[in-house]
Amino acid sequence: MNVNETYDQILEYQSILTEKFKLEEKIEELPKILSSKNEILNKLKKSYLNKHTQFKKLEESIYANQRKMGELNLQQKNIEEKTKVIKSHREYEALDKEKTYSIQKEEEYKFQLLQDQRVIEDLRSALEKDEISIKQHEDEITKEQERVNGELDKIKDELDKLNAKEEELIQHVDEGFKYKFEKIVKNKDGKGIVTVSKGHCNGCHLILPPEFINEIRSGNKIQFCPNCSRILFYNEGDEDIFNIEDFEDNDDFFESEE
Ligand SMILES: [Zn+2]
Repeated sequence: MNVNETYDQILEYQSILTEKFKLEEKIEELPKILSSKNEILNKLKKSYLNKHTQFKKLEESIYANQRKMGELNLQQKNIEEKTKVIKSHREYEALDKEKTYSIQKEEEYKFQLLQDQRVIEDLRSALEKDEISIKQHEDEITKEQERVNGELDKIKDELDKLNAKEEELIQHVDEGFKYKFEKIVKNKDGKGIVTVSKGHCNGCHLILPPEFINEIRSGNKIQFCPNCSRILFYNEGDEDIFNIEDFEDNDDFFESEE
C-alpha cells in the first residue's frame, strides 16, 4: 500500500472518530436537559410536602381548639344551671367570675381558630395549585424522557454503524497507534493529521528540522509532530489542503505531550 493510501485511511479514520466523539458528547449532554427539569420538580415536591405538614398541624390545632371551645361552652351551661339554685350574693359573684373567665377563654380559642382557618384555606388552595403544577412537570418530564430515549436510540444506532465502519477500516492497525491517534483527535478538536508546509507543522506551527521533513516526505514511517503529537503529512504541490487556517492552536507550544 502506498503512503498516500495510508494517509487517506488515517483521514477517514479521523472523520469516523470525530463523528463518534460528537455523538458520544450528545449522549452525555442529552440527559442533562432532564436533570434540570427533575431538579425543579423535586423542589416543587419538597415545598408541597412542607405545606402539607403545616396543613396537618393546623388541622390538629383547629380540632383541638374546637374541642376546647366545646368544653368551655359546656362549662358555661353548667355555671348557668348552678346560678339558678344559688342563695347568696357571694356565691353568685364567684360563679359570675368563673363564667366571665370561661367566656374570655372561649373567645381566645375562637380568635385562634379563625386565624388557623384562614391560613388553612390559603394552604389548601396552594396545595391544589402545587398538585396541578407537579402533575404538569411530571407529564412534561415523561414526554421529554421519551424524546431523549428516542434520540439516544438513534444516536446509538449511528454509533453502531460508525463502530462497524471503524472496525473494518482499522482491523489491521496496531492497538498502540489507535490509542494514540484517538487521543490526539480528541484533544486537538478533530485535527489529528496535518500537513507540513514552509518548514513547519501546520497544527502547531513548530519549525521542523529539514532532515525530519525529509523523513516525512519519504513516507517510510508515520511521523508525529514532537510538539503537538499530530501526524505529519507532506503533500507535494497541494500542501495547504489540511492547513489549520488560524493560529488558535498556538497554545500547543506550551503544552506538554499527553
Ligand atoms: Zn505540531
